[in-house]
Amino acid sequence: MSRSNYDAVVVGAGPNGLAAAITLQTKGLSVLLIEGKDTIGGGLRSAELTLPGFIHDICSAIHPLGVGSPFFNTLPLEAHGLEWVRPTIAAAHPFEDGSAAALLDTVEATAQSLGKDEEAYRRLMAPLVAQWPSLAPQLLGPLQFPRHPLDLAHFGWLGLPSVTTLAHRFQTREARALLAGMGAHSMQPLNSLSTAAVALIFLMTGHSKGWSFPRYGSARLAAALGSYFQSLGGAIQTGTPVTSLAQLPPSKALLLDCSPRQLLQLGGHRWSRLYQWQLERYRYGMGVFKVDWALAEPIPFKAEACRSAGTVHLGGTFEEIATSEARVFHGTPAEKPFILLTQQSLFDSSRAPQGKHTGWAYCHVPNGSRRDMTTIIENEVERFAPGFRERILARHVMDTAQMEAYNPNYIGGDINGGNLDIRQLFTRPALRRSPYRTSAKGIYLCSASTPPGGGVHGMCGYYAARRALKDIFRLPAPAL
Ligand SMILES: Cc1cc2nc3c(=O)[nH]c(=O)nc-3n(C[C@H](O)[C@H](O)[C@H](O)COP(=O)(O)OP(=O)(O)OC[C@H]3O[C@@H](n4cnc5c(N)ncnc54)[C@H](O)[C@@H]3O)c2cc1C
Repeated sequence: MSRSNYDAVVVGAGPNGLAAAITLQTKGLSVLLIEGKDTIGGGLRSAELTLPGFIHDICSAIHPLGVGSPFFNTLPLEAHGLEWVRPTIAAAHPFEDGSAAALLDTVEATAQSLGKDEEAYRRLMAPLVAQWPSLAPQLLGPLQFPRHPLDLAHFGWLGLPSVTTLAHRFQTREARALLAGMGAHSMQPLNSLSTAAVALIFLMTGHSKGWSFPRYGSARLAAALGSYFQSLGGAIQTGTPVTSLAQLPPSKALLLDCSPRQLLQLGGHRWSRLYQWQLERYRYGMGVFKVDWALAEPIPFKAEACRSAGTVHLGGTFEEIATSEARVFHGTPAEKPFILLTQQSLFDSSRAPQGKHTGWAYCHVPNGSRRDMTTIIENEVERFAPGFRERILARHVMDTAQMEAYNPNYIGGDINGGNLDIRQLFTRPALRRSPYRTSAKGIYLCSASTPPGGGVHGMCGYYAARRALKDIFRLPAPAL
């Protein structure tokens, strides 16, 4: 390690580790950020996975929660090379007949595209979108005394039920399928409590800063965070997998951007029996099977909206998605799974050689599944985009085991750092006064296995560092 001791050491340079390191460093502490791989980023890395000149996002691709993150928005990331790209249409949802539903920039435009559900959509979303600036910092964090209790109560009333309940407000196939696709981001059966909240958050982000992504690839967001951290005086050490806490230099605070399972392996003897017992019982959610394509031409979707969308949700009607998600959650791979597909190269020419394109997709599979879903995913894309296969130049696939081998935080292919059901939403990884504190003084968990959970937003890292600043250094955290 480059120095003998630090005020704080952060292990793991994913978006949350980076956010934690920045939060501590802005208070003038000496901070070392250690990363096991040769590059920083965690879920924010990009590489030529298929052919030279085709840049693929290895993990996260689209960042509605990143561009809207209350923490990232306090940082001068544009000055460190970040440029957000906002696709023409945030998300589209095709049907076999060649039509599609779409999440458009404004509530008004989306409402008008939903026919008989125009007024229902407007009534549901217009007040929420107006409240989003006050809701975002409250929803993307731990349970805490609400700064805007009325807004939060309104959101809770709508978001606490399942997305199935929320869908009863709508009659059209389009509106109901749009909701199903949004709710499926929770990786929960659609009739589970609080899946409505996930659907509403993704709709609200679409109507605020859009479903944007970094030009040149997701790695650019990590690079901007790392560059800003270093500009503040922070130190980064890559290529250093931590296998025991004894390996680390002394520090007053230690923050770990890792899974509860790794926490047990890294320092089991330090945890109280109760904390260890809780970590052992932590539950992981569905996994993903991912495919990246190098394409000779854009994906020939029948529906025009899909040809202008950054993200496409494939899975058919509300009922089809509800059936396949429930099946996968309970351990059986779906024959027609819900698929998230993105096409960044339509809006960012740096992703592929001139005239060529990239495609990124994953489907939900049971945790730990080794089933090869390539043909199933490609058949599904072909269903909505006949001629797709002929455009494939090369592909790269990752199943759940390869995902976990790539990043030890993705247990069984779970990309959310643990099951995101109502029981684990605010008590991840354990029921404690602060979910970020471990049972050992000065050691904190800062990964997606703490509130608010998965996604690229850095809020778990910010709140864990805020806890450490208060407990150990008696310093206030930078305000959001
Ligand atoms: C295929 C896929 C698609 C996704 N798509 C999206 C998306 O489009 N949008 C979105 O918002 N989110 C998406 N996500 C989720 C998102 O990437 C994660 O929720 C997010 O990266 C979690 O951030 P984190 O900092 O908690 O952990 P990670 O990003 O997992 O970073 C953890 C880091 O810690 C390092 N590390 C762990 N243990 C050790 C150790 N013992 N020693 C040293 N280093 C260690 C790892 O190498 C890694 O770099 C996706 C994830 C995957 C896998």
